[in-house]
Amino acid sequence: MTARRHAEIAGAGFAGLVAAVALADRGWTVRVHERADALRAFGAGIFIWENGLRVLKAIGAYDDVVAGSHDGEVYEVRDRDRVVAETAFHAGMGSRMLTMTRQTLYAAILDWAERRDIEILTRSEVVGAEPEGVLLTAGGGRYAADLVVGADGVHSRVRDSLGLQKERNTGTLGLVRVLAPRCLDELGPGRWDRVIDFWNLPHRSLRILYVPCNGDDLYLAMMAPVEDVEATAVPVRTDIWVPAFPQLEPAIRRVSAEGRYDAYETGKLTRWSSGRVAIVGDSAHAMVPSLGQGAGLAMANALGLAVALDEISDVPDALARWEERERPLTEYTQDMSAKVARDRLGTAGRIWSDGTIRTALSVPTGTEHLPPVPEEEDIHAPL
Ligand SMILES: Cc1cc2nc3c(=O)[nH]c(=O)nc-3n(C[C@H](O)[C@H](O)[C@H](O)COP(=O)(O)OP(=O)(O)OC[C@H]3O[C@@H](n4cnc5c(N)ncnc54)[C@H](O)[C@@H]3O)c2cc1C
Repeated sequence: MTARRHAEIAGAGFAGLVAAVALADRGWTVRVHERADALRAFGAGIFIWENGLRVLKAIGAYDDVVAGSHDGEVYEVRDRDRVVAETAFHAGMGSRMLTMTRQTLYAAILDWAERRDIEILTRSEVVGAEPEGVLLTAGGGRYAADLVVGADGVHSRVRDSLGLQKERNTGTLGLVRVLAPRCLDELGPGRWDRVIDFWNLPHRSLRILYVPCNGDDLYLAMMAPVEDVEATAVPVRTDIWVPAFPQLEPAIRRVSAEGRYDAYETGKLTRWSSGRVAIVGDSAHAMVPSLGQGAGLAMANALGLAVALDEISDVPDALARWEERERPLTEYTQDMSAKVARDRLGTAGRIWSDGTIRTALSVPTGTEHLPPVPEEEDIHAPL
């Protein structure tokens, strides 16, 4: 009997947990190291598109995610009270756009990880890796493995210890992300079940993406330039945001006190691997969030990694095959996300087109066996 292959993973975020589940499903033993003292998601809400839903279906977490999420059937863009664009997703674009709290998505994936025989160590800070297949932790820990995965986010220590970074940029825009109650009885007339992209131009470059997450929770993504110290402040300054978006006053006044302003960070690598070490998720390909694809692609590439390792037994060869297969769509999405953010500066217009929806309609490696979503899909019906 051949010994099971073993993986050490840095980071229990979306990429790390999906990689863990996908590898465990293919016979690997897996240990995940998480720096934080508890397993939870940071951030408020999130969009997951058809490609991400297919990955969730492939690893088993789909039903729990769908049950706790909202189907944002229509994406509406408004400049103050004027509707300037409307896009219907199911029938019109062929992809669903599900919105949910980050915790809903995270808890569903974690639940599936916990059903496998995966060891997850909290308070285990990774400080680097060696290409021969060793993960290094603070305090001198050395964990040998057939495969090491750096899924430790945009500030990845694994990536940096191997000198793989090619480009890294911090943008001039960012978002305060907060949750609020839905406040449906207090908001005025309107289609408050939609995702609504509110702009306030040319008065001040502020924007609020209004995102229902479920029956109770609303996610507000409040965009402001880095240099706008008032609009980027947390707790949110109601004296700045309410006059700019009076339609949303009841929700803005009740946003959660915790939250954080994050400037957009992006990065590209020379290579996605070195020897037996693979870099996946934001550590490899952080992107501007304008298409809501960072986590979707992090999960897709984590699943694709496990598939490649199943196809090719030599680990470095499998990692090369994985990168060759997944990197073109990932970099296309990074570039398109940046272009959308640039093009929309100062103009509140239609965002969705064949080019911007392409990633959502892609079929991630390892999900080819799943049927396509029929038009008029009932989101509570199985894929
Ligand atoms: C404002 C904003 C909005 C976004 N909206 C969307 C959206 O709507 N849809 C979407 O798909 N994506 C969105 N994204 C992108 C998405 O959040 C990321 O792409 C996704 O979280 C990447 O997952 P990850 O697992 O690679 O990294 P992370 O989620 O950052 O997880 C990394 C994990 O590693 C841990 N870690 C870090 N360092 C160490 C260490 N040294 N040792 C051990 N553990 C460590 C962290 O604690 C964390 O648990 C958005 C991003 C931003 C900034």
